[in-house]
Amino acid sequence: MMVPALTVVQGPGVGNMGLQMSAIVSACVKLNAKRIRITFSGADVAAFLRIGAAQRPGNWIKLFVPTPAGGCVGRAYTLRTFDLDEGTFVVDFVIHKTGAVSLWAQAAKVGDAVTFAGPRDGGFNLLPDAKRLLLIGDSTALSAIQAILTHVPSDLPVEALIVVEHPAEHETLVAAPHVRVNWISSAEDAPNESGALEIAFNNLPASLGHCQVWMAGESRTVVAARKLLSERWTLEEARIHSKIYWKRGTSHFRT
Ligand SMILES: Cc1cc2nc3c(=O)[nH]c(=O)nc-3n(C[C@H](O)[C@H](O)[C@H](O)COP(=O)(O)OP(=O)(O)OC[C@H]3O[C@@H](n4cnc5c(N)ncnc54)[C@H](O)[C@@H]3O)c2cc1C
Repeated sequence: MMVPALTVVQGPGVGNMGLQMSAIVSACVKLNAKRIRITFSGADVAAFLRIGAAQRPGNWIKLFVPTPAGGCVGRAYTLRTFDLDEGTFVVDFVIHKTGAVSLWAQAAKVGDAVTFAGPRDGGFNLLPDAKRLLLIGDSTALSAIQAILTHVPSDLPVEALIVVEHPAEHETLVAAPHVRVNWISSAEDAPNESGALEIAFNNLPASLGHCQVWMAGESRTVVAARKLLSERWTLEEARIHSKIYWKRGTSHFRT
C-alpha cells in the first residue's frame, strides 16, 4: 500500500513544535458526563500510524485545537485505539470545567480540523523479568491502561487501580482471568484522589516481588503513590514508570 506523505502545517500560535500534521474529526460520541470519544482521520493520520512508535500502547500526541479567540492551544492526549486499514485513531477526552481542549471537545463536530504532533515518548514497555503488572491511574490514564491491558501477555497477572470521581465513570476494560480491575470513587470512597489510592493500596499483597508499575494521573496523586510504593513495598525505582498527566490548578502543565 502507498503511504501518503505527511503534510506540514504551521497554524496560528503553534510555534516551534516540529512537524505538525492535520487531522479531521470523523466521529464524536459522548460516553458519559465526563468523557467524549473522538475519532480522527485524514491522510496525515494514516501516514502517522505507520510510524512504528505510534503503535506502542500508551503512545501520546500533542493535539492542537483552535480557540474561540482565533488562537490555538496544544495538550497531550493518548491514542486510545487506532485502525491501520481505516487510517483513524481514537482519543478519549476527560471533560472538566475550564480547560480549552475540554471545551473544544464538548463542541467538536464531524469535519472539524485540528493539528497534532508526535509520536511522543512514553509508550509502555514491559520489563523482561516482570512477574506481575500494577497499573495505576485516573480517568485521563484510562486510554493508556486499556491499551496496555490489550497488549500484555495473557499469563501475566495484572492489577489495575483506577480512581474516578463517580461510579458512573466506570467502563468496560479488557476482561480476562489474568486482569483484576479495582475501581475507586474519589467522591464516594475517600476525601480525595490520594486518599482513594491509599485505600486501594491497602488491598495489595505485602510483597510485590518482581512487579512492574505503570502509573499516570494528577500530580499530587502520582507523587504520593510513587513514594508509597518505594517506601512501603521497597520497589526499585527502575520498576516504577510514572508520569504526571495534569496538575490541579495549573493550565497546560508540563513536567
Ligand atoms: C502523556 C499524557 C497523556 C494524556 N492523555 C490524556 C487522555 O488520553 N485523555 C485526557 O482526557 N487527558 C489526557 N491527558 C491529560 C490532559 O493533557 C490534561 O488534562 C490537559 O490539561 C487538559 O487540557 P485542557 O485544555 O482541557 O485544560 P488546561 O487548560 O490544561 O487546564 C485548565 C484547568 O483544568 C484543570 N484540569 C486539567 N485537566 C483536568 C482533568 N483531567 N480533570 C480536572 N481538572 C483538570 C487544570 O488543573 C487547570 O486548572 C494526558 C496528559 C499527558 C501528559
